[in-house]
Amino acid sequence: MHPHRRNGSHSQRAGRCIFRFILLLCTLLPGTHALALNAASCPEVAANMPEHRASLLDNICYYVDRRRLANPEENARFENPDELASIQDWQRSKGDELIFTQSSADYWLKITMKNTADSAGYWFLMLSYAPLDNIAMWVSEGDGYRQIHTGDHTVFSSRDVDYRYYLVPILLEGNAKTDIYMRINSSGAINLPLSIEEPANLIAQSNALTLTHGLFYGALLIFSAFNLLLFFSTGTAYYFFNAFYMLATGLFLCSMAGLSFQYLWPNVPWLANMAIPLSEGLSTLAFILFGRAFLDIDEAQPRLSGLLKYLASFSVLVIALCFVLPYSIVIKIATLYGLFCIVTLFVIGIQRWLQGYSPAKWYVFAWSTMAIGTCIYALAAFGYLADFLAQEILMQIAVGVQVILLNYAMVQRWRLLTDKVLSMETAARHELEIRVDERTTQLRDTMRQLEVANQRLEELSIHDDLTGLHNRRHLDAALPDICAEGRRLKQPVALIMLDADRFKTINDTYGHPFGDRCLKVIAETLLRHIKRPMDIVVRFGGEEFAVVLPKTELAGAMAVAQAILEDIASQAIETPDGDTYTITLSAGVATYSHRDSLEALYQRADKALYQAKETGRNRVCASEA
Ligand code: GH3
Ligand code: MG
Ligand code: MG
Repeated sequence: MHPHRRNGSHSQRAGRCIFRFILLLCTLLPGTHALALNAASCPEVAANMPEHRASLLDNICYYVDRRRLANPEENARFENPDELASIQDWQRSKGDELIFTQSSADYWLKITMKNTADSAGYWFLMLSYAPLDNIAMWVSEGDGYRQIHTGDHTVFSSRDVDYRYYLVPILLEGNAKTDIYMRINSSGAINLPLSIEEPANLIAQSNALTLTHGLFYGALLIFSAFNLLLFFSTGTAYYFFNAFYMLATGLFLCSMAGLSFQYLWPNVPWLANMAIPLSEGLSTLAFILFGRAFLDIDEAQPRLSGLLKYLASFSVLVIALCFVLPYSIVIKIATLYGLFCIVTLFVIGIQRWLQGYSPAKWYVFAWSTMAIGTCIYALAAFGYLADFLAQEILMQIAVGVQVILLNYAMVQRWRLLTDKVLSMETAARHELEIRVDERTTQLRDTMRQLEVANQRLEELSIHDDLTGLHNRRHLDAALPDICAEGRRLKQPVALIMLDADRFKTINDTYGHPFGDRCLKVIAETLLRHIKRPMDIVVRFGGEEFAVVLPKTELAGAMAVAQAILEDIASQAIETPDGDTYTITLSAGVATYSHRDSLEALYQRADKALYQAKETGRNRVCASEA
């Protein structure tokens, strides 16, 4: 008994292919009914002759025992081929793979295989449809039968040969024959793609399939692992959903192909059954979540996003139902629901594409491949296309292409994001550069203005406004260097201090502006007499001036001072009242003694000046060093 079976009426599951609704179409197909005959008149197939092997599907007799269908509780069934002796309405297959749509009936097949060669031969009768529930086989040997009870309701080890499909080894002596009976009972559609294979062919075919399966499932696993890594390193949800989708779809195909039962859970027959709707439900859940995240539905269409959440919740319910409802019901729900969601997501993909969301284009391409693939698969699974193996490969190609396109779509999406970030970055950098440029220009202007102001300030600080001569600050800065130079070169430095005579009276008599004019005249006169570049003239303060003459002896300096005094005294300056006035200067000259300080130099010059004042003004006095 199947642990998962809910009641005796359905022997659960059978070859359920992806799209169960096509099942309904199958019932409309012209049946494989032919004239009734009895078991004894079934044709014989010569296994050693290739053309006979090729026409096997013309030469199978079958009988459908519907009693269990009519009355499931009764459990009436023929327990061995001998009990069928009285049956007269056997029918003969007509070249197509045998396909049955009813559920609980017992399907009896009879094949008579012979070896027309003289030597013994060894063949396999192969039934290449994995998901059949219960298969009982009787191979006549001598007086009795060799019996095999298998199917995916039984542990995998019940099979004669460790293979995902059912293989019955047939050894026939020369000119011998055997009758093979099969009783098949399985829920849902039953495909019976039977063939007689030579061992060498079978091995070759199996090798080729092992390679394609290895490549296909290997690629799926690697893609999934890679997407999981991307998910863990970026935290982007759709990588996870894509990995999840690929694994679930892989599991679905693997279960349909009988591989998961063979390799993953050979001792858990109930799972062999349930893995198909379960993986369908998981796959549906995954591609809904993937589509929602990948197509940015949450951002772009919040209401649609809500709908997708409901669809996802419902697929969780479908997954849960796998553990509650009988297989024959759950497979229909899961398949129809999966189909509905494929169509929904396809439409949403197209809509997002039309909205101008460019990664949606690749998503739609991927989905189209998948839709075409599943249609081919469904058609093939129900006998509209060639053999079951071919459709399996087609489905693998479809899923493979879909996986590649989906991954490419993700690359496109990633590129879109990167481009966006990059252009934002470029714009920001550009903006920043413009700002920096502006600021730099402003700063440069300000610096230039500051420099000019500084220069001006410096000029101002060492110049006298009224006369344009340097001021005392300049003298204080320059004199130490000049004296140090003189000392080093052992050359004299002369200092002349000049003071306007009775200047207070001039101011008092003619007013301050006239006094100022006189000061300018003095300045001009001084400049006229000072010719060497090293010489310095400063307005020392008020109506007092100083002249420094490097490399000049006392006598020379006195001569210069005398010349200045004479020059001034010779100038008649026009007064405001139309008169003229002549100003005079007194001068004190001193030279720098290399032994004493600048202070002393000033004092001596001042002293000489004082002396000039005292002794009558308008004269030059000297102070000996
Ligand atoms: P002495 O012959 O003894 O030097 O007599 P003095 O009047 O020149 O001497 P005192 O030092 O007492 O007077 C200096 C005067 O110079 C006082 C001040 O009014 C005048 N003075 C100083 N600076 C300026 C100036 O920039 N412009 C004008 N117009 N007068 C000034
Ligand atoms: Mg004076
Ligand atoms: Mg004075």
